[in-house]
Amino acid sequence: MEGLIDGVLPDAAELPGLVADLRTARSGISFVYDVIEKLAERYELSDAVMVLDHPELGRQAFRSARRPIGEASAMHLNVLECPEGVHGVPGGVDPVSASVAVELCRIALDLDLYRHDSRHDGLTGLYNRRFFDVMFRRCASQSARYGWSFSVVIFDIDSFKQLNDRFGHMLGDRVLQVVGAEMHHALRSSDVAGRVGGDEFAILLMRADRENVPAFMSRIRAAVEANMEMSVGFSFGIAEAPVESTDPAELYRLADARLMAAKGTKR
Ligand code: GH3
Ligand code: MG
Repeated sequence: MEGLIDGVLPDAAELPGLVADLRTARSGISFVYDVIEKLAERYELSDAVMVLDHPELGRQAFRSARRPIGEASAMHLNVLECPEGVHGVPGGVDPVSASVAVELCRIALDLDLYRHDSRHDGLTGLYNRRFFDVMFRRCASQSARYGWSFSVVIFDIDSFKQLNDRFGHMLGDRVLQVVGAEMHHALRSSDVAGRVGGDEFAILLMRADRENVPAFMSRIRAAVEANMEMSVGFSFGIAEAPVESTDPAELYRLADARLMAAKGTKR
């Protein structure tokens, strides 16, 4: 990567260490602020602003020391009037350094988008199956090592295919979105929620409080019914770690078998 950027922008060496910083950055946004701080320090600027026109995110302005964008005085830049690039007070930033910084920051923001998209389901914003599995394996190994308890809950919408056939795929999508939104509201930040199949969802409840699950399912059903003005049923299955297993595949199999058994009793 260093070679590639060096090849495209021969003066990348002007900003030593930035490419390495990009590789280890916690997030694209934090990288952008680090770059601005470095430029402000190097060019002895009392204020510095980077403006990026990002195809997916629109115009974005970042200001040194995370100052408010609206703040404008003789000592500060009027951010709203700054064109794309890097701007500083009192002087400017040399154009090669500015263009390298802008390109690296654009890459950093792209990486944020890719990271988000690779982990989340586009329809509901919940974790996708792949990332849910990563979190599940992490939880299960901590449970095996430290004895921490958690439950895995799998639930599924009853007769969702019929709902799609009757009211259309778009309305089906809307139902899935309402379920996702309600899961975001109802769960604690320590819980992990994913859409793991077409109409199948999964949750890792960190304190294994399985007695709350029926109330949680009722809450989701009520949200769908209130938003969509239609009745909808859910079936669920639960498995508990570490008492039943600490193997994620076995826990998933147990919860799924219980979900299927619950469906069977409705038919
Ligand atoms: P059961 O009661 O046994 O759960 O049956 P079901 O009809 O809910 O479920 P089944 O597994 O047979 O079918 C799930 C359906 O979900 C099939 C597919 O058309 C639909 N589906 C999958 N992904 C999406 C999606 O992203 N949007 C919509 N609207 N429907 C989807
Ligand atoms: Mg279903």
